[in-house]
Amino acid sequence: MYYIANWKMFGDKKSLNSLNKVIKLSKINKNNKFKLIYCPPYTLLDLFYKKLKNTSIEVGAQNCHENEIYGAYTGSINSKMIKNVGAKYVIIGHSENRSDGESDILINKKIKSSIKNGLKIIFCIGETLSQRKKKLTNKILTNQITKGLSNVKKLSNVLFAYEPIWSIGTGVIPNKDDLEKDIIFIKNKLRNNFKLKNAKVLYGGSVNPKNIAILKKINIIDGFLVGGASQDSKKFIDIVKKTVI
Ligand code: PEP
Repeated sequence: MYYIANWKMFGDKKSLNSLNKVIKLSKINKNNKFKLIYCPPYTLLDLFYKKLKNTSIEVGAQNCHENEIYGAYTGSINSKMIKNVGAKYVIIGHSENRSDGESDILINKKIKSSIKNGLKIIFCIGETLSQRKKKLTNKILTNQITKGLSNVKKLSNVLFAYEPIWSIGTGVIPNKDDLEKDIIFIKNKLRNNFKLKNAKVLYGGSVNPKNIAILKKINIIDGFLVGGASQDSKKFIDIVKKTVI
């Protein structure tokens, strides 16, 4: 099971202290039952890497520029730079970036350049509430997957995070049966159209220690992408403990 902490635009140097308890948790992970990945803001990537480098916890970035080589792009950071500070993952296609204008074509470029630079991808997909109400979820997911993965090599380096946009930061999660159907739909699509037999599909959207008991029942979920609750190490640890320990 994967547990990915997306810290969004939160955290400073003091936040490093909150990792101590999570490091302790990682030491009781005897049979590699779980994998912990921290995605702090760019400013903390190097510090997180150094703090976590002798543990099993890995580090990822939350986005990147699409260019695989360095260039004159003021304010941007590419996958080569992310890899250079020891991070192994990058989140791509998060709805908070899609809503800022990130297109499927741009997402596809980011995925390709990040894979070329040796990063693993946490590829976010998900529909809005109005799309869901119009029963467009499958169409939207198909579109995002097809365009995002177009001509991508090494698909085994991609993890998928199904994040219904109406669930992110709202405290609302899908009902169990609907979520199960959505995850099955994504896995079937990846198997049938991309020959990905064992794709890892995580769920993200308001995961917390209270609703994890419901989410845990869906045993085809391969892990969780946790936003708000991951900034509180007690809550993050609780989510892990209530599912795998
Ligand atoms: C996210 O940002 O990916 C996310 C799932 O956020 P939250 O857990 O806060 O809904």
